[in-house]
Amino acid sequence: MRPSVTGFEVHDIRFPTSERLDGSDAMNPDPDYSAAYVVLRTDGGHEGHGFVFTIGRGNEVTAAAIEALRPYVVGRPAPTSAADLAVLHHDLTHDSQLRWLGPEKGVMHMAAGAVVNAAWDLAATTAGLPVWEFLASMSPEDLVSLVDFRYLTDVLTRDEALAILRAAEPGRTERARLLREEGYPAYTTSPGWLGYDDAKLVRLAKEAVADGFVQIKLKVGADLDDDVRRLSLARAAVGPGIRIAVDANQRWDVCEAIRWMAALAPYEPHWIEEPTSPDDILGHAAVRAGQPVKVATGEHVANRVVFKQLLQAGAVDFVQIDAARVAGVNENLAILLLAAKYGVPVCPHAGGVGLCELVQHLAMFDFVAVSGSREDRVIEYVDHLHEHFAAPAVVEAGHYRAPTAPGFSARMHPATLAAYRYPDGPQWLARRPAQEVTS
Ligand SMILES: [Mg+2]
Repeated sequence: MRPSVTGFEVHDIRFPTSERLDGSDAMNPDPDYSAAYVVLRTDGGHEGHGFVFTIGRGNEVTAAAIEALRPYVVGRPAPTSAADLAVLHHDLTHDSQLRWLGPEKGVMHMAAGAVVNAAWDLAATTAGLPVWEFLASMSPEDLVSLVDFRYLTDVLTRDEALAILRAAEPGRTERARLLREEGYPAYTTSPGWLGYDDAKLVRLAKEAVADGFVQIKLKVGADLDDDVRRLSLARAAVGPGIRIAVDANQRWDVCEAIRWMAALAPYEPHWIEEPTSPDDILGHAAVRAGQPVKVATGEHVANRVVFKQLLQAGAVDFVQIDAARVAGVNENLAILLLAAKYGVPVCPHAGGVGLCELVQHLAMFDFVAVSGSREDRVIEYVDHLHEHFAAPAVVEAGHYRAPTAPGFSARMHPATLAAYRYPDGPQWLARRPAQEVTS
């Protein structure tokens, strides 16, 4: 008999990263990197792990949203095929009552993404393949069956998507071989957190270049004089041949973004990321038209419809997918196809906990079976918290190595789940004021 999903566990996991200002930027000065984490178990002995990334407070809200999806998963046959994963994705995103909370945006949508991704981890693990290879083993017909084309067909039809995937089919084997040999280009954000002082910024920027990275990223947007100083220090540290992207994390209004970036342009930033509200499609187009630096966004873009409009409006030079923002692999496949149609490079967002682990699979699959290109494409890398994962992302000489372990690289160690459980795991109990613990 076919195994069923019998277990559905939700964990509120938080890491006290605010203590060292890792991850600090102009809008998020003190993040505690967190995961609303879900484990699916089958009576066949398999597991699927997935999560929503948050930055601390509110992680419990996201965990509750995942819990609301339990009835859709428990008792269901364990997903193994594209058809199973398409139906599950549809069911999780089209509940007629839960849909009111979005539609297809916000906490409920992210929760659906965590469960969809856990199902992909389960299916790929059962197949004995890493997710990038599991996806790349599917036919173009199976891949388009995974995509919800509702609201997309004015720009991308099922037949057009099929044509994109068929065009990339002949080179799949060769590109998979290249990926295993060479990996996929990475850039690092680790030098550029806003809470780091100048000496740490310069030291880490030099280390990044020595480690083989050809692109780094700095957080900007709190103070223009500080940004000019930090960017000039970074430029002096890395030299002219290294790309420096900058990231404002939604700090500016449109006119302010244009003014600010005109002042930073002499230091040749490679892109300005999230210059303004992630919902402001025309605002991004205005920023792109109003100053010389290329525009990137996506980590807070709610769904495939907003990505569609960003591309339609000519508002972005780089599409930054996030593995845990939209409704999982299925919706990211739609976004990869949209970007391929417009010929816009995808440079995934991965600052956070576990996001490097997940999104590397999507970028690698894109190279093998969708865009067929690594040109102008880089996956973000931050070197925090990888030790908590059973199969952590590996970056060497500025490149992600192609994962070989079956699944989505999403699994945290059981000891981590126990230690960092919020608010009662030992790591958090140890941080409570003494009177709270004893009362
Ligand atoms: Mg960013």
